[in-house]
Formats: sequence, structure tokens, C-alpha cells
Amino acid sequence: MNLLGLDAQGMERLFAIIGEKPFRARQVLKWIHRRGAADFGAMTDIAKDLRAKLAAVATIEPPVVIGDGTAADGTRKWLLKVDGANAVEAVFIPEDGRGTLCVSSQAGCTLDCEFCSTGKQGFNRNLTAAEIIGQLWLANRALGVHGQPGGVGAGNRAISNVVFMGMGEPMLNLDAVIPAARLMIDENGYGLSRRRVTVSTSGVVPGMDRLAAECPVALAVSLHAPDDALRDRLVPINRKYPIRALLAACNRYLEHAPRDFITFEYVMLDGVNDSDAQAQALLGIAARVRCKFNLIPFNPFPGSGLKRSGAERIRRFAEVLQRGGLTATTRKTRGDGIDAACGQLAGDVADRTRRTRTVPITEVRA
Ligand code: SF4
Repeated sequence: MNLLGLDAQGMERLFAIIGEKPFRARQVLKWIHRRGAADFGAMTDIAKDLRAKLAAVATIEPPVVIGDGTAADGTRKWLLKVDGANAVEAVFIPEDGRGTLCVSSQAGCTLDCEFCSTGKQGFNRNLTAAEIIGQLWLANRALGVHGQPGGVGAGNRAISNVVFMGMGEPMLNLDAVIPAARLMIDENGYGLSRRRVTVSTSGVVPGMDRLAAECPVALAVSLHAPDDALRDRLVPINRKYPIRALLAACNRYLEHAPRDFITFEYVMLDGVNDSDAQAQALLGIAARVRCKFNLIPFNPFPGSGLKRSGAERIRRFAEVLQRGGLTATTRKTRGDGIDAACGQLAGDVADRTRRTRTVPITEVRA
């Protein structure tokens, strides 16, 4: 059994089975996540016989790093092998006063949003909780945090925020996403505040309700269109959960996170969704849910047939939203040199769907 993916509950359950006390489970959790221990022998305040017992039944196994590249702006991307056929990507984005890790939740994605490079690759499988939290574990190790005295949280916090915005739709893999998110906010894990862990969804309504009930971290919703006709095309899951149902789910979510707001992600596509009239229509949506907008300049990829809105159009679009009383920010394009910008995570997926791969495999090397 791989202990890396067990949250506090899971670890305590395992320790009960092997006849050990819950506080021992919390100690081991700290060793793994705060100090980055990969072998039981390093856990010096745990009795030798317990260490031997654990070594006999369990392992601590992160994914394997097969690519590691840093762009000129400091954005760093790891390509992680999760099995013989699949590799996923995690990206670290350093900014003044904060560091954000973007993690993947699936190898590929089933949903095929029109503007998304990952979606064009098809889908192979869900990641396990160990493979998801393993991205944060590996990033802390690579950034030198695990090696500092006290490890994660002892004043060494290179990663202050985690966003589930890499490959995959997190709401379609909640059995693994929820334990991973719980470890991120657990004080014996990574100790991040609930609002600094963001799960992003294209609008899978049942998943939003489950996450609200079980682990209501911050929520981002990929909106990308102000009406159902356009959203049906850009984000096909809209045909199942149209905007009205999506907004109702957003409001139910906020009942579990009363002082939060929803972040609506909106990719700026030239001549498709970027007119003043469409910005005005978004004000109608914003009147129905507590929210802010994050405008994302589109990153073109081969075969997409889409173009990024011009800088002046994006500025004007944001201005319409702001004049309407909304908070609207525009995401800085980061990591261009290593294909780590939003919507460009490609990884390497053994496609088991019948979708045609149109995007070349991206691999970065140190
Ligand atoms: S945008 Fe997200 S949900 Fe849509 S295809 Fe890409 S990874 Fe999947």
C-alpha cells in the first residue's frame, strides 16, 4: 500500500487495522508530507518495531520525474511518469509574495473543451490520490522545502497556493481529489488555508455538490461564454449542465463557504466570446452569484483554429466588467517557453478514447 495518498482518516484507519494508536498515524503523516520522508527508516521518533511493521506492509511512492524545465520568468514544469503509458504535468508559478502549484487530476480528459490542448489528447485514466498529492510532495522536494529544518510550514513556504487546473476535470475524480485536497489543508500535511486550495471545474454539477459537502475549498468555474448556445460549443459539458443549473450549483456551493466567491475563468478568444455585448451579458450572470472574473488570454496550439483576443480588446472587455461593478483580473501569460501556460499542459497520455490526437507531446528536460 502506498501511504502517500492517505489523508488523516485513511491513515488512522490503517493504523487501527495494524493495532497502532491514531497519534502514531499523525506522526507518520507529518514525516511524509511536512518533512518529505520517503523511507520509514528516516522517521527517528517512531519506534523501530513500528517502522519495521510499516516497511513490511507499505511504501511511500511518488510519481517519477522524467522532465524538469524552467522558463525565463521562473515558471517551472515537471513531467511526471505515473505508469508505463502515462505522464502528467505539474507547474510551479512563482510571483511576488506567493508561489502557486498547478496540479493535474487525470491523465488526459474526457471533456474535450474546444480551446484546450489537454482535451484534444483524449483520456486514459484517473490519477490516484498518491499521484495527485505526489505532485505537491515532489515540488516541495525539488524547491528545497522538504530539506529545510522543520520542512513544510516551518517558515519555509515556497508553495503558498495550489490550483487543480492542470490536466483533467477534478470533479470526475473526486475519490482521489478529496483526500489529496484534505492533505493540502491538514495541519499535519501541507497546512494551507482552505482558500488557498482551488479546485477548478468545467461545470460538473454533481461533483460541485459533493465537494461542497466533503471539502469546500475555493472553487473556480470555467465559464468561457455568457450564453448556452456558445457554451455548448466551447465547453460541451454545458449540454448536460447548462448555465442555469451551473449557477444554482455555484450558489449551493457558497452556502458551504459563506464568505467565499466563485472565480469564473474566461478564456479570451478573438471574435468568439470577447465582444462588449458578451461582457454585458456576463454582468447578468454575475448578478445571480457572488463571483469575480479571471480573464485568460488564449494560448494557441496547433489545430485549434482559435486565436487570442488582442491586448486592447481584453483591456476593454475587463473595463466593461469593472464598470459593471465586478472584480475582473487578467491572467499574466506565464511559462510560454516551456508550454506551461494555461491550456497547454500536454503530458503524454495513452489515449483510450477514440479522439484524434492533434497536439504533439510536450517534454521538457533540465
Ligand atoms: S478545459 Fe479542463 S475540462 Fe475542458 S478539456 Fe481541458 S482539462 Fe478537460
